[in-house]
Amino acid sequence: MIQVDHLAAGPDLSLEAVRIGAGGGPRVAILGGVHGDEIEGVLAAQRLIAVLGARPVGGTVTVLARANPPALAAGTRLGADSENLARVFPGDARGSLSSRIADTISRELIDECDLLIDLHSAGRRYRMPALCGLPAQGEIGGRPLLDLARVTTFPFLWSHPSIGPGRSVSHAEARGTPWLYFECGGSGSLLEPDIDRYVTSTLRLLTEIGVLGGEPVPPGDRQVVVTDGNGDTDAGIAFRSSGFFVSRVAAGDTVEPGRPLGAVYDQTGAEREIVRAVSAGVVMMLRHDYRVEVGDVAAIVAGTDDRAA
Ligand SMILES: [Zn+2]
Repeated sequence: MIQVDHLAAGPDLSLEAVRIGAGGGPRVAILGGVHGDEIEGVLAAQRLIAVLGARPVGGTVTVLARANPPALAAGTRLGADSENLARVFPGDARGSLSSRIADTISRELIDECDLLIDLHSAGRRYRMPALCGLPAQGEIGGRPLLDLARVTTFPFLWSHPSIGPGRSVSHAEARGTPWLYFECGGSGSLLEPDIDRYVTSTLRLLTEIGVLGGEPVPPGDRQVVVTDGNGDTDAGIAFRSSGFFVSRVAAGDTVEPGRPLGAVYDQTGAEREIVRAVSAGVVMMLRHDYRVEVGDVAAIVAGTDDRAA
């Protein structure tokens, strides 16, 4: 069964959700495009609709490929009301446009699912390694979510001891609903392997929890488990000066404390600042856009469980 629902988010906007499946099994909600400059998730969600529509689906998969139409139309991270949709969950039916979108997604998708998968990416200004984020204590059907996430093809699994408020996944967390989110890429270009990884990994997860038929997925290549940080992209190592940022590392690099991540130069070429790692870990987010202002986030470095390395 495929059913297209138009979910009202106030008088002037509806969200197109596609529900696929026979029911009677796990209910999975998939979001794309919460941020309007993160197109990987939008395209992956649309491909998933096509793939799942042609296969027997046990349970229900509800896909909202364009979670934030105003931001997607503008190609911006923030909505037309200058709000970050991923900071206003669970939302408010009588609030701003972003709050109304959040409220609709909360009620119609998150409150009605057994697993939430939110497809993000690094957007225009940042770069991130391909990763699957999850709650450290999360489980589904008695199975640790970290164990489930190992069937994905992500090189990094980011296990969060806690998460900041206002995100779709924070609302799921508050309800005790398991959640995962994906990140990748960025810098304003779209790469086919990233979109393919989102689709493949989601299909593997759906197979593992019994929504799709098929053999259990064998564990993939060895994955690095990142264990620090709440995944808040608004917090990290901040620039103390404005200018041109020249990075010296790549997203996904392992760094030691004090390692220069890059430098900021002014228009005369004078070095204004060296940005250094303050702890050991993996560069999970790195500034891409070269024009930076004081207070902008330069990078997030998060520790791993890789004791043997
Ligand atoms: Zn995002």
